[in-house]
Amino acid sequence: MSCPVIKSKSSRPYQICKCCVMDTTDDDIVFDENGVCMRCREYKERIEPEWNHGKGHEKELAELISAIKKSGEGREYDSILGLSGGLDSSYMLHLAVKEWGLRPLVFHIDAGWNLPVAEENIRRLTEKLGVKLLVEKMDPEEMRQMQLAWFKTGLESLDDPQDHAFIALIDKYAEKYGIKYILNGYNICTEIVADPDSWAGVSGPTGDGTFIRDVIRKYCAVPIEHYTFTSGLKHKFIWPYIKGIKTVKPLNFVEFTRESMLKTLSEEYGYVGYGQKHFEDLLTKFLEGWWQPTRFGHDIRIAQLSSLIVTGQMSRDEALKILEKPPVSEEEAKAMFSEVAEKLGISEEELMKYHELPECTEKFKSQEKLYSFGIKLYEKLGLEMRIRK
Ligand SMILES: [Zn+2]
Repeated sequence: MSCPVIKSKSSRPYQICKCCVMDTTDDDIVFDENGVCMRCREYKERIEPEWNHGKGHEKELAELISAIKKSGEGREYDSILGLSGGLDSSYMLHLAVKEWGLRPLVFHIDAGWNLPVAEENIRRLTEKLGVKLLVEKMDPEEMRQMQLAWFKTGLESLDDPQDHAFIALIDKYAEKYGIKYILNGYNICTEIVADPDSWAGVSGPTGDGTFIRDVIRKYCAVPIEHYTFTSGLKHKFIWPYIKGIKTVKPLNFVEFTRESMLKTLSEEYGYVGYGQKHFEDLLTKFLEGWWQPTRFGHDIRIAQLSSLIVTGQMSRDEALKILEKPPVSEEEAKAMFSEVAEKLGISEEELMKYHELPECTEKFKSQEKLYSFGIKLYEKLGLEMRIRK
């Protein structure tokens, strides 16, 4: 099953940014006359001046915390926080409870792919902070069938069933408990360079329930009855503007680095890092560490490392050195391959057959138009701080 990492499937000659490590594996990348990509330029011109590495936002943070506390008066919780066990959500839980004195409903989705190290991290954090953990265990057979359906499509975004459920359930529980604030762990510090849009292929955005339902209708062997869906309209408009449930990103109001997050969490809670972002989950680790690089030539580390480079946390040379090696060793890839096939209830031959499928070009129903209108509007209003293209 040895499949080398593909450098580029693009017809363009290979080129890599002189400043970060984004390259022509992103079909939409544009370089200026000095060989610097537009993401680097956008960061310097638009993001850094306002964000300023989290410095100088004390007043905004204090106002936000006080608004959250006020909204929760007389209620069991004042906010909701989705805890994956990853670095960002774990660090935010630490800040929210210990530093800011918030009372979040801490929520975790168990889609059956949690790695033991992540479960242990979650246990340590919640126990020491004394917060109750609400675990939503997904229906294992439904999740298996849905996951298998996604593999059969040839799509790249095979995480959709888990990711969509995460968004939908956070919204659902916020409403159920009368919570007005969703604490979102998105942060400029480690995520400002987003995965290229061009990698999504024909997939809809994660919150696009129309797309999710259409894939199920076309590829899923059984009806899906216990899964929670959302939609772009619900998640991006009805929840925030009609129901007044706001998604906030308070990590952008504080100063930290990837290293300092890890240090704080390991010292205070015995937290153990995963080596790479999103590696707390077996399926995501398999997809981002092996499936996507070998099947599509897409190594998500270029975006993750570029975020660290542009924000001054890593040198370009260090990043290039990391990229010389594949994300996971061949031995580890082999072990994950067997485990994923087993969890999906299929043979390794069948799983390999999906790895060799042509890329999906099928048109699925989606709310794409609504989303692109929404993104443009959000950018105009200054609500969207993420470099997309
Ligand atoms: Zn760049």
